[in-house]
Amino acid sequence: MTQSHMGPLMVCLTLGLVIPVSAASATDAPAASAKRMELRIQALSQFGANPEGGVSRVAYSEADIAGREYIKGLMREAGLRVRVDTAGNIIGRREGRDSGLPAILFGSHIDSVPGGGNYDGDVGVVGAIEVAQLLHDHKLQTRHPLEVVSFTDEEGGLVGSLAMTGRLKSAALDVVSHSGKTIRDGIRAVGGDPDRLDLAQRKPGELKAFIELHIEQGAFLDEDAIAIGVVEGIVGIRWWEVVVEGVANHAGTTPMNRRRDALLSAAELALAVNRVATTIPGRHVTTVGRIRAEPGAPNVIPGRVVMSLEIRDLASENIQKVFDAIATEASRIAAARQTPIRLQEVDIASAPAPTHERMRQIIAAAAKDLGLSYRLMPSGAGHDAQDMTHIAPTGMIFVPSALGISHSPKEYTSPEDMANGANVLLRTVLAIDGGALE
Ligand SMILES: [Zn+2]
Repeated sequence: MTQSHMGPLMVCLTLGLVIPVSAASATDAPAASAKRMELRIQALSQFGANPEGGVSRVAYSEADIAGREYIKGLMREAGLRVRVDTAGNIIGRREGRDSGLPAILFGSHIDSVPGGGNYDGDVGVVGAIEVAQLLHDHKLQTRHPLEVVSFTDEEGGLVGSLAMTGRLKSAALDVVSHSGKTIRDGIRAVGGDPDRLDLAQRKPGELKAFIELHIEQGAFLDEDAIAIGVVEGIVGIRWWEVVVEGVANHAGTTPMNRRRDALLSAAELALAVNRVATTIPGRHVTTVGRIRAEPGAPNVIPGRVVMSLEIRDLASENIQKVFDAIATEASRIAAARQTPIRLQEVDIASAPAPTHERMRQIIAAAAKDLGLSYRLMPSGAGHDAQDMTHIAPTGMIFVPSALGISHSPKEYTSPEDMANGANVLLRTVLAIDGGALE
């Protein structure tokens, strides 16, 4: 008989009663309620509801503050002790059998982009509360303390998770958020203390693990009817400003063979960017998302073009490799058309954030145990999990987004898919609690 079966009696000190409590294990974990999750998602979507059927619940707005109160209520219902840290993160804690052990943290965010949907972030918070609710209802106790988190202002720049990992720059506090408040005032408005963000910080080793359940926001799972995405990491991003120098001249009097048209070179380069990306093997993505021709008149040959270049991938080396190939193409085009091309990196780069390898295996095993199909995949979008990789073994679970639509009122994930995600989350938490990370 294992120790977990030896300790079914816990003394409830406040009532002076002895109540039976079982040790939680992944093998006989209770099942998430798809219905309850759906009802909670619907209830949450009332806060900041927009006419298109989604939400505009930007961080620090009245809708966000009201939604946060709703979430705190759900956490209490699930038996969690709720606090708001100085960064405004809502944290619901459940003690474990051994309070000396580090907590297992899991959750996501409930703030949205303007004109957003009802699932981005919300599924992760409602799913995390579902896990706590199941453990509470079935009187199952873990060894480790568990903490459910709803991070502050994910959409405005991962504010809560940056603060939790001690990486929020003070200049970020002066940025005016979509709510109209600065992030500093916003944090205050949700019960935090922007002057004492150090208190929100969790040190490496302080948490046993972090797990985020989230909708995919892409179409890979939905198209292939796969239930669970095991996230390999959050891709790194690099940006360049591309400047093409040509010669502006009269569009009526300059013959075709005497032109040095910057826009034609830029167009050729945009095609080359796409060709390079699709030729080099890998899962990188490249985008030219903005282009400006100068002087920008119908009767003047473009003398100068400024355009953007973005490359994303899970491996820094591969981003560099793709960029080098693009730079070679740029030199060739510049020479052929006699239009110098300059590629200047813009300092917004975010490094790739791979998830913890063992965590991926634990999540995959949980999906397998449940008979759910799963796939290893990168996340092309940013998430709080990318910050958490700096301080704790981090894993991320994706569930399908219908048609891959996100950041839109048309965002949709079925109740069954949400429940699958919560079930994988619960089993992942219990496996970690049972020593799977050791
Ligand atoms: Zn999100």
